[in-house]
Amino acid sequence: MTPMTTPLIPATVTGSLPKPGWLAQTQQLWPQWRAHDDLDQAKADATLLWVKLQEDIGINIVGDGEQARQHFVHGFLDGVEGIDTVNKVTMAIRNGRYEALVPQVVAPISLRGRIHGAEAQVLRAHTSRPTKFTLPGPLTLVDTVADAHYGDRAALVMAFAELLNHEALALQGDGIDIVQFDEPAFNVYPELASTLGIQALERAAQGLTCTTAVHICYGYGIEANARWKQSLGHEWRQYEEFFPALADSSIQQVSVECIASQVPMELIALLTGKAVMVGAIDVASDRVETPEEVAEVLLMAADLVGAEQVIASTNCGMAPMRRSVAEDKLRVLVAGAAHARRALAG
Ligand code: ZN
Repeated sequence: MTPMTTPLIPATVTGSLPKPGWLAQTQQLWPQWRAHDDLDQAKADATLLWVKLQEDIGINIVGDGEQARQHFVHGFLDGVEGIDTVNKVTMAIRNGRYEALVPQVVAPISLRGRIHGAEAQVLRAHTSRPTKFTLPGPLTLVDTVADAHYGDRAALVMAFAELLNHEALALQGDGIDIVQFDEPAFNVYPELASTLGIQALERAAQGLTCTTAVHICYGYGIEANARWKQSLGHEWRQYEEFFPALADSSIQQVSVECIASQVPMELIALLTGKAVMVGAIDVASDRVETPEEVAEVLLMAADLVGAEQVIASTNCGMAPMRRSVAEDKLRVLVAGAAHARRALAG
């Protein structure tokens, strides 16, 4: 494991980053691959490209940018036996927020083998900085498949948690420092999140000695999400329902959406003892924030949970964004963290 030699308020990416145009379609959440001749090599090259870019930009905790998966959920499902990914069905997901073409669970699920080994090893081999790797969370996985076999949501959630645990332990074996589970479904089913959701996270993280994290946002900056957010009212208090249970859990870091959001900042104070990845970059807008705007959010968070518990991050992944915008926003994230650090020092 790499020693965590990071500054106060280190900067990290949340997860996905835009794919280069030679690898896949750009500005799409579900892009088609373009590099057909040697797709595996192209994925590895794109991962390496983003490791270098993140280092040059000054990102302290580096990720693979999810370059090797088509989508944050389906990249994992592709490696699971018992799922029919050919005969997809249309299903309303995220409590009916939008319709998606989803794979079906048709038999008991198991892993075919390693899922993300190749890109995790590229990431580890090409940076000496602390590394983070993302996996979809069990509740979100189950909310993105049609179950034609288990007939019992809790059983399916725990079955996915067990598979995730295998891959998470293997990622730790690859030398990954932080394994993060992405659970946007927590904000859709906050009550379920506080019970089954967190129980499943614990199962997925069982036996890990690396740092564990969970990312809980209000989704990518796509139109269906923008409409949903408008329906949530003036204050978004979903976090309030499950943060106390999350504070009692063994998960060490929590990634939350803060900037340009209707989430009352004070809710992060419920995350007693956790490191908080503070979303200080809006991924739903192409307008690039100023370092001062980023610093303001980080300093508010530092006031609530203590500066040593704050990690600077983006609200969500950046996969559907223009690459130049994503790069500019990451630069401002780094500048904003430095700005906050200076303010705290002086
Ligand atoms: Zn997200």
